[in-house]
Amino acid sequence: MKRDKCASCGSAELRIRTSNGGTYGMNKIPIGHGRNAVATMDNVVCIECGHVDFYINDPDALAKIEQTWEAL
Ligand SMILES: [Zn+2]
Repeated sequence: MKRDKCASCGSAELRIRTSNGGTYGMNKIPIGHGRNAVATMDNVVCIECGHVDFYINDPDALAKIEQTWEAL
């Protein structure tokens, strides 16, 4: 469900980086306790305006969030 256009300026000049590894905390989001408590996110950057989006690409992590987080 990734966008092919920037959410901010509408540009299609997007770049994605996946599997950013364990160095920077901003690429991870805590989703619960215990094993697999952190989901790694893909980063999408707009070359035109600098807007950054984060995406979780792990279906198991999304399922866990669906089950354990509050619905809006
Ligand atoms: Zn943009």
